[in-house]
Amino acid sequence: MTKVVAANWKMHHGPREAAGFLTRYAAPASSRVRTLVFPPHLSIASALRCAPAAVEIGVQNIHWERSGALTGEVSAEMAREAGATLALIGHSERRHLFGESDADVERKVRAAARAGLVPVVCVGELVEERRAGKLNEVLRRQVGAFVDALAGAKEWMVAYEPVWAIGTGETATPADATEAHSIVRAALGDRSGCPILYGGSVKPANARALMEAAEVDGVLVGGASLDPVVLARIAEAAIPVAP
Ligand code: PEP
Repeated sequence: MTKVVAANWKMHHGPREAAGFLTRYAAPASSRVRTLVFPPHLSIASALRCAPAAVEIGVQNIHWERSGALTGEVSAEMAREAGATLALIGHSERRHLFGESDADVERKVRAAARAGLVPVVCVGELVEERRAGKLNEVLRRQVGAFVDALAGAKEWMVAYEPVWAIGTGETATPADATEAHSIVRAALGDRSGCPILYGGSVKPANARALMEAAEVDGVLVGGASLDPVVLARIAEAAIPVAP
């Protein structure tokens, strides 16, 4: 399986910066690594215009309705029409800053599948949940909420992102990642044949060790993905460890 390196730009890089980034991004000349970039909605068009052919562009968030009186929202169909091929769903910032529930995540996964987008669904525990020994329970609940909605999708991915590691500089150890990914894979049941990515303070210095860990099929990168040179170093780190 190839390794996946996914860049979540969050609310960074407007259309001009997105174009500049993708013009400078040196995608590894290897079919063993797949680069995904999730720009803000408004930057999707310019990202697509400038992205090297090997880079896939996704949308950071979608609404589950096709259209409607939902000011500020964007549907999966609109994202697909704009050229996105993947949808990031249930990112920790959506869950914890914008109150997205497991039920919302399930509806968004269904909508992505309906529109032909590849759902990239994020799960992960809070530090208090980890300390209380609830890792297994939390991941099984989060995955259990959307697993049936994957039925309509041709392809999907899951990103395990411990909330305490996102944007904090703290990273799960490779062994932590393997443990959590095994739980996610078991919870996916017969839908487990998909890439499971690790996210949380990934940078060039730790990317290789994380991607070498059993069950880790790639990484989802926030802060370190904002610089094209740094992202390229992370993508290069995937090549020697891709089977
Ligand atoms: C993320 O936003 O998905 C993320 C993992 O962020 P960071 O790499 O900055 O921790």
